[in-house]
Amino acid sequence: MKPIARIQSFSVNHDKLLPGLYVSRIDGDITTYDMRTRRPNTGDLMSNAAMHSFEHMFATYVRNGALGPDVIYFGPMGCQTGFYLLVRHADNARVLSEVRNVLGRILEHTGPVFGASARECGNYINLDLTSAQQEARRYLQELDARPVTFTYEE
Ligand SMILES: [Zn+2]
Repeated sequence: MKPIARIQSFSVNHDKLLPGLYVSRIDGDITTYDMRTRRPNTGDLMSNAAMHSFEHMFATYVRNGALGPDVIYFGPMGCQTGFYLLVRHADNARVLSEVRNVLGRILEHTGPVFGASARECGNYINLDLTSAQQEARRYLQELDARPVTFTYEE
């Protein structure tokens, strides 16, 4: 039997990781982005409602935007400090610009959270727009706080 190898995302130094947008890995023509919203292991976590609501809003707007046909997946990290966005044929500058666009659309959104019904979601009562918007505002501020380099620090 092959020994169990440590997966690539565990080799990132989470002690040095600041909120931002990073390339986590590239598999063929698919780029996995680490949308890091919180500094790891500081006790600063997204609540499940914020993470879930942001997931519904971001997934819907990003799939309806300029990157739409190339979006493979979007979803939260179990550690509650970020999200993964998988894009085919990705260009970093274009992805960053579209991430900012989508955050703006979430902030302008009025009405119900997308997919907020029992038929569409596995826990639809755990959704609220205000939490999604607070997360979007906060992540925009983090993206403005320092240059986005896309690469993890060593
Ligand atoms: Zn849901």
